[in-house]
Amino acid sequence: MAPAPLAAWTDGRIIELDHPTPRTVRLRMHVDDRPGHLPGQHYLIRLRAPDGYTAQRSYSLASDSDDPLLEFLVERQPEGEVSEFLADVAEVGDVLELRGPIGRWFVWDTRTPVLCLVGGTGVVPAVAMARTARRLGRADLLRVAAMARRRDDLPYAAELERHGATLAFTREGADGRPAGPFTAEEVTPLLEGVELGYVCGSARFAAYAEELLVACGLDPAAIRVERFGPTS
Ligand SMILES: Cc1cc2nc3c(=O)[nH]c(=O)nc-3n(C[C@H](O)[C@H](O)[C@H](O)COP(=O)(O)OP(=O)(O)OC[C@H]3O[C@@H](n4cnc5c(N)ncnc54)[C@H](O)[C@@H]3O)c2cc1C
Repeated sequence: MAPAPLAAWTDGRIIELDHPTPRTVRLRMHVDDRPGHLPGQHYLIRLRAPDGYTAQRSYSLASDSDDPLLEFLVERQPEGEVSEFLADVAEVGDVLELRGPIGRWFVWDTRTPVLCLVGGTGVVPAVAMARTARRLGRADLLRVAAMARRRDDLPYAAELERHGATLAFTREGADGRPAGPFTAEEVTPLLEGVELGYVCGSARFAAYAEELLVACGLDPAAIRVERFGPTS
């Protein structure tokens, strides 16, 4: 059972900030007395203007529960109210309002054999799952297949490769693999012994990935989906 979400908003201070790719920002934040979380859960980040106007968005955790800091990876969306601020304006030392951890459905229980089929920034919850699996010595339970246009567009590519992830790039060939999305021939062997599939990414990616998993033989009831779509 997932820990209950925080009832109240709390403050999080940015301790580390970098830009792993030109379109993304990685924020590592400190929260006093924060509760633990499960891999796959997310937080709400709320921005507040001097006139009291607020805007809040959901951001998945990349960090393992044992990490002393919360880690988020945010992709800058063109004219995105919250993501542009986080990517272009936020600085180390800033304090942001946070609420979480949230989510009971898109979490991995760390006991079930699973495949994460994720695209672009949708890798974030798979990174949390991989870090938790490594800490528990159960990397064998978690397979990851991650896709992006090019390697430079895939956050955490090197870390996922160290976990043994299968990578696909739609706009460039890599390691003898031609450019293109994952095929059923590539994904079917990854499903051997797997009981649940986790899909995360844009709405377009999620539709493709769900269809692919079903075509590869996974029961639609065994697929959990998180879409990082536009807010409205
Ligand atoms: C459970 C959950 C977890 C999430 N985790 C992450 C995460 O780890 N990292 C992350 O970067 N995002 C994540 N998101 C998406 C995030 O919550 C915001 O929707 C995203 O940052 C855009 O917010 P914004 O305020 O910048 O854009 P908005 O002001 O909401 O939108 C501005 C413009 O950008 C367009 N737009 C917004 N989002 C997208 C998109 N994804 N693709 C194409 N166009 C878009 C809108 O249509 C609009 O034109 C998650 C969403 C959910 C529901």
